[in-house]
Amino acid sequence: MDLNLFQFFTKDLPVEVKYINNARGKGLFATNCFNEGDEIFKENPLVCAQFLWNEFYKYEACEYCLRSLEDAETMARRLSGNPNVVLPHKEYCSTYAMENYVKCPRCQVTMYCSSTCLEKAVKEYHRSLCCGSNNCRPDHSLNRLRETWRNIHYPPETSSIMLIAKMIAMIEQADDPMDVLKLFSQFSRVTANNEAHVAHKLFGKQFVEQIEILRLELINTLPSSKITEWYTPGGFRSLLAMIGTNGQGIASSSFSQYARNVDAAKFEKQEEDYINSFLDQLYADMNEESGDFLDCEGSGLYLLQSCCNHDCSPNVEINFLDNNATLTVKAIRNISEGQELCISYIDSDIKNWKKRQAILMENYLFECTCNRCMVESQQPEPLSSSESEDSDDMDVGD
Ligand SMILES: [Zn+2]
Ligand SMILES: [Zn+2]
Ligand SMILES: [Zn+2]
Repeated sequence: MDLNLFQFFTKDLPVEVKYINNARGKGLFATNCFNEGDEIFKENPLVCAQFLWNEFYKYEACEYCLRSLEDAETMARRLSGNPNVVLPHKEYCSTYAMENYVKCPRCQVTMYCSSTCLEKAVKEYHRSLCCGSNNCRPDHSLNRLRETWRNIHYPPETSSIMLIAKMIAMIEQADDPMDVLKLFSQFSRVTANNEAHVAHKLFGKQFVEQIEILRLELINTLPSSKITEWYTPGGFRSLLAMIGTNGQGIASSSFSQYARNVDAAKFEKQEEDYINSFLDQLYADMNEESGDFLDCEGSGLYLLQSCCNHDCSPNVEINFLDNNATLTVKAIRNISEGQELCISYIDSDIKNWKKRQAILMENYLFECTCNRCMVESQQPEPLSSSESEDSDDMDVGD
């Protein structure tokens, strides 16, 4: 771990990265005090990618920043299956101008929310990943790779091979590949035993064969002499486990942004009642038509957020308020200067501490020793609990 490198990224922020101990590794600490509700900082990912099924089902997002590209009303119509939905108070829709949207001029397929995003994508990775005029051909190696991934990783999606493809392309295109490699090497790695566990979770029983197919297709798509270690069978498995355990889920939605704005606005009582019942009905229709799949979804690697340790009674939470992959870290308690900032990797409403521990072990491979778990483990067990110990129900929160 290179603390100097983190200092560079936190120099203008009210946080610092510190080494804690061998068991906990590094952590993120407040260098100011904060009140409940305060925004502490925002962070952009080093790299992010939309999930491939999410993209396949026409959730339109900027290829670089994952901004949701539909306007709120179009999105509400698609998700509810009702082409006649008219949103009240459109003044609370994003004012982001669709005239800014651009396609990659070469492949004419990848969409960006602005020429800035297009330029950054081309500079960082898209030159290596752009299929040029071949992009429509399903037998193009990149499209084959994406299809292979979709066929072995069904929704609910937790990761994407495009994250790895972009990482490799970033190294290929960097002025100094070592700079980029150094950034990616800051993310924590799991042991070889645990790699198999993560791979099993990602791909099921056939994971050994599946990983080998992916590895060969990736080498074929992006031949590179700069990352030879990543392309060995062991190195590739380790890389998959790294994005599996460090990848932060991302959700963006023009409609959610509108709903948040409306929710925060002040209306006359009668108008407020009307808006609330309108939105309740709309959410019910969306739920029936689209289930839980309401957002543009993907995952990304965030240098500072990845330093946040878990606590079952967290003092900060992560939100996506800007309708793109920029995350906001917000205080959900009062925080004093010097205090460690902890998020909950799971749904912290789960009351049974044994169940929380089982989910954390299954998904994040550690035993939680937070204060809440320590206190609750000392208390007598309730005789019956509505939360069963059913190990099939391993939901991961966001
Ligand atoms: Zn963008
Ligand atoms: Zn292109
Ligand atoms: Zn805990």
